[in-house]
Formats: sequence, structure tokens, C-alpha cells
Amino acid sequence: MTVDFLDHIRSTLDDIREAGLYKRERQIVSPQAGHITVAAAGGQKADVLNLCANNYLGLADDPRLVAAAKRALDTEGFGMASVRFICGTRDTHRRLEQRLAQFLGKDDAILFAACFDANGGLFEPLLSEADAIISDALNHASIIDGIRLCKAKRYRYANRDMGELEDRLEEAQEDGARFIMIATDGVFSMDGYFAPLPEICALARKHGAMVMVDDCHATGFIGPKGAGTPARFGETDGVDIVTGTLGKALGGAMGGYVAAAQPVVDLLRQRARPYLFSNALPPSVLEASLVALDIVEAGDDLRARLFENTNRWRTGLEALGYTLLPGEHPIVPVMLGEARLAQDLASALFDEGVYVSGFFYPVVPKGQARIRTQMNAALTDQDIDTALAAFGRAGKTVGAIA
Ligand SMILES: *Cc1c(COP(=O)(O)O)cnc(C)c1O
Repeated sequence: MTVDFLDHIRSTLDDIREAGLYKRERQIVSPQAGHITVAAAGGQKADVLNLCANNYLGLADDPRLVAAAKRALDTEGFGMASVRFICGTRDTHRRLEQRLAQFLGKDDAILFAACFDANGGLFEPLLSEADAIISDALNHASIIDGIRLCKAKRYRYANRDMGELEDRLEEAQEDGARFIMIATDGVFSMDGYFAPLPEICALARKHGAMVMVDDCHATGFIGPKGAGTPARFGETDGVDIVTGTLGKALGGAMGGYVAAAQPVVDLLRQRARPYLFSNALPPSVLEASLVALDIVEAGDDLRARLFENTNRWRTGLEALGYTLLPGEHPIVPVMLGEARLAQDLASALFDEGVYVSGFFYPVVPKGQARIRTQMNAALTDQDIDTALAAFGRAGKTVGAIA
């Protein structure tokens, strides 16, 4: 590697640092949970409340999932050492795919190594130059990349703007699109806002378009039985394709999927490149994910806990004088305006034993820096009150609240 090239890379890194965008990773030395232990400066360890994981149902360290994964290791081994179509398909891959499909009200599902891969591989096999994809401007990076890899004509509408969506649908039709697919996140992760699925599906029906929803921040805990945003809005049939992850509420390990009509899933199995050219999920993840689905389908207790926590959290933060984005999703963004303030508050909170993450431009618009807190079912009332007290003290220290 030449000195010139490394200098070029170093100067890019300097730019990132100067812009205040350099990401540092804290090291967790306990299981992922409501309470975690984090390595701190000087070989110290800090016990903190974790308010920034996607561990919505608290299943990441659930003994039932851990036991299922251990059993799988003992009886099915560690890895598959093959892509699915050569010799990497187990009975449990198919069982999990069929369970996910049933849960989401679709014919079948297909597993990927991650939802990033599911979204990355979804569009290219299904649509071509003759077709159009209309995408929400705030869609997840993996949807954006997946659309880039596809030859279909691309259209974009402002976040949740139904007037613009209809304009784009009409444009695509005028441009002679053969098939049109609308692509949206079910929940937008920076705001915790829901996509307006009834309106989106109504426009799709009116203009003969299809609807794809990425439900990563919903599957397992939003809607009846936790079946996600389509179920929440009574649009299970109006949404044609659902993608999602095993890496958030459903245990938080690894894995993604697409659920859809049989021919769609069958063609993805033949043509989706991240499926064809990447390793199969390991048995431990499959068995634990099946148990996660058992738990999610068995009852509402974890979801009830999650939403009680979310209410307690929202109410308490508002009482302290914080400005929140409105909503009911367990993503609760605390709006702070300037990036500096979000960073200072996050750092003061860590010293108070509360782990949160600040988000600022370019991840969110300029002047809308925030701390994105996320509730989970592993937190107790007492944990939430502890975190609220910390937000009270730290907020006053850095001047975020009076
Ligand atoms: C987390 C997330 C993904 C990526 O899922 P992985 O399984 O972690 O790759 C994709 N889309 C959305 C909306 C997400 O929130």
C-alpha cells in the first residue's frame, strides 16, 4: 500500500473527526440487557442502564433463547459452511421461514444473513428497466442500496408525504412504468414515526402499485400479536412484501428475511445475490429464533410491559421539561437542537449511569440533534425512575432543561 494512498485515507479520517462525526465504540462486557457493564477508561468498568438497544422485548439474554441455542450447538453443531442451495439448508431453516411467513400472513419467507442483505437483494431480481420503485426519502440505508442495485426507474417522496407519493405514482405511470413498487420503512427509526400505511395502501390500490414494508423496528411488538405495522393498520393484505430482522426484538442476534407471495419468494431463492452467494444462518440462531417467535405469539405480557415502560418514560421526561417527538413507539427521541448539547448530555448521562446515544447531522436534519432513547421490556419501573432522575440531574448540568 503506498504512502500516498494511506495519507489520503488518513485525511478522510481527519475530515470525519473535524466534522465531529467520528464514531467511537464502547465495549460491553456483560450480556446485552436492561443493565449492562461497559468497559470504561483506565481499565474500569461501569454498570449502566441501557436505553439505546433494539432489544425491545428484552429477549437478547432470555434464558429460553440461550437454552435453545445451547441445545442446537450440542445437537446440530456450530456452522453450516455452505450457502443454502449447495448443502446449507437445514430442516430448521425451512421451519423458521414457514413460521415467519405464517406470523406475517404471507405464503412463504426466505432467510438472509441480515435484513441489510434482504433489502439489498430484494429489488434487483423482481424489477427491471421497465419498472419503477417509489421510495420514502427517510428509508433505511439498506433499502436505498437495494434500489441502487436494481435497474428499475427510481422516484423519491418526502418522508410520509402522501401528496408527493401520489405525484410520483402519476409520474411513474406517465413515464410508462410496467410495474410500480412503493418502498417504505414501517417505522422510521430516528423519529419513531409510523409510515401511514392505510394511505399508502389506498394510493397503491388506486394506481395499481405494489407495497414493500421494512418492519425491522416493529416485528414482534407492534400491532396485534406483535405482527407488525401492517397488522397494526389492518393492512396485512395491502402490504405485498415485508422485510425484517432477527437482530432487534426477536432475540437480537442475526438474520433477516423477506416474506411475500410464493412466486416472489421462489424467485428470490433463485436470483437474490446475498442469498445465493452468502453463508446460511447457523443452527443456534435458527432454534433460538423459533423460541423467540413462540414467546412473541404466546401472549402479550412482554408487549404490555414494553408499552407501560414507554408511557412511564414519556410522561416522566415531559414532566422534567424535555421536548419529545410525539408518538407511541418505544423509540422516544429527546430533542435538543444543537449537536454539542446532545453530545454533552449523552456524556453527562453516562457518568450518571445511563447509556444513551446522541444523533445529529447528517443522520438527522441540522438543528434537530437529539438523544434517541429506546424502551425495552427488560426495564423495571424502578429502572425507569432511576433513568428519569439521571435525566433530571444531567439535563440541568448541561443546560438542556431549566
Ligand atoms: C436495523 C435495520 C435494518 C438492518 O437489519 P439487520 O438485520 O441488522 O441487517 C434494515 N432496515 C431497518 C429499517 C432497520 O432498522
